[in-house]
Amino acid sequence: MDRDPRTSRRSWAEPFRIKMVEPITVTTRGHRERAIKDAGWNTFLLRAEDVYIDLLTDSGTNAMSDRQWAALMLGDEAYAGSRSYYHLEDAVRDVYGYEELVPTHQGRGAEHILSQILIKPGDAVPGNMYFTTTRYHQERAGGTFVDVIIDEAHDPASTYPFKGNVDLDKFRAVIDEYGASRIPYISVETNVNMAGGQPLSMANLRATYELCREHGIYLMLDATRALENAWFIKQREPGYQDKSVREILRELCSYSDGATVSSKKDNLVNIGGFLALRDPDLARRARSLLVAFEGLHTYGGMSGRDMEALAQGIREMVETDDHIAARIGQVEYLGNKLIDEDVPIVLPIGGHGVFLDARAILAHIPQEQFPAQALAAALYVDSGVRSMERGVVSAGRDPVTGQNHLPKLELVRLTIPRRVYTQAHMDVVAESVVEVVASADEVAGLRFTYEPEDLRFFLARFEPIS
Ligand SMILES: *Cc1c(COP(=O)(O)O)cnc(C)c1O
Repeated sequence: MDRDPRTSRRSWAEPFRIKMVEPITVTTRGHRERAIKDAGWNTFLLRAEDVYIDLLTDSGTNAMSDRQWAALMLGDEAYAGSRSYYHLEDAVRDVYGYEELVPTHQGRGAEHILSQILIKPGDAVPGNMYFTTTRYHQERAGGTFVDVIIDEAHDPASTYPFKGNVDLDKFRAVIDEYGASRIPYISVETNVNMAGGQPLSMANLRATYELCREHGIYLMLDATRALENAWFIKQREPGYQDKSVREILRELCSYSDGATVSSKKDNLVNIGGFLALRDPDLARRARSLLVAFEGLHTYGGMSGRDMEALAQGIREMVETDDHIAARIGQVEYLGNKLIDEDVPIVLPIGGHGVFLDARAILAHIPQEQFPAQALAAALYVDSGVRSMERGVVSAGRDPVTGQNHLPKLELVRLTIPRRVYTQAHMDVVAESVVEVVASADEVAGLRFTYEPEDLRFFLARFEPIS
């Protein structure tokens, strides 16, 4: 079947029909100007009911299927040994192929446990670009994150098809500098979020895994977006065209010793996550921490019904390729509309959202005045579309020097929830972005009025610099 979204719309029409609706309302510009002021120019601090189309995140904003809602009713709320836990364990074994399941309340719970069992103070943890919570937990455990992603990932204009790839020379240099004994694992993210939802290739993961085995270093996947990565491999990597995403996902996981997963993304639920491992001894250590921080080993912070809906979501996401084709097809639909209007975005279009290049759009605002933060606020005021900053505010400060990290990518993320919005919503979003870009010179830079110490982007407040 022709699945190119530019030539064949039919192949990615939503593979579902709508059974229940949730009304949303349009607000006035005056209302939105007050709302963004009250929110300190931080879209995280807006009330959801002041938002028209909510593209803040695709995390936990998924629409569940009728079968998942039915599964909720079958949840077994036993404190220990819940039937729903075993359903989840079966689903993770079948789809991801990991034997040992350690359930957590969400992805960062799994990152916390993994970091605590493996990282010692002074260790280095290489990774293909940082993720906010992942790096936070690595540093909290005493580790130093070292970026080993290929250079193309930092260039928003590069159209390299696998911008999520690990640069093996950079990885080797970390091994030379620290020694393998001080590198407990490499953290390899699938469909790299902070690079704009960019995949790594199977060949690159395989080679990275081989290098790890040579040196006795674990390879731990952040498999949160492994399904989206599998879709891109099917589209772009020779030899995978005729494989199902289910087979490709399974092969991806085979080149790893374990994975952390935030189930709020690929897995089509609103809350949940897990750490999955192969080594039973490592899993035993993880479970003994789990009982202190998350919950008993057969629920780890999720209710029985959460686990039941999650087990169903994991099976459903790979039942056929139609779900992921439509999911990424919708992202590409929005991205292509913006490309046609010459809006600078990160290329190639990523798996979970479209990333506006705020540095290019607001060239008059220096990075220290948070252009991406200002652009996200301006877009909200224009149309009630909520987006998120992914630039200097998200990058935070260097814990040693106290200076702002100044990432090359200064982006606004329009993140598309799964199975929630229609193409008509995407049209409205594109029109608003085009309008804001056309009057970009009216947008002013921002300064902090409150800067939290940890993960500052969530709760920071700003004011415009007049
Ligand atoms: C969302 C996300 C996480 C963190 O998961 P939470 O469920 O939000 O705690 C980690 N890694 C990636 C790639 C993510 O997208």
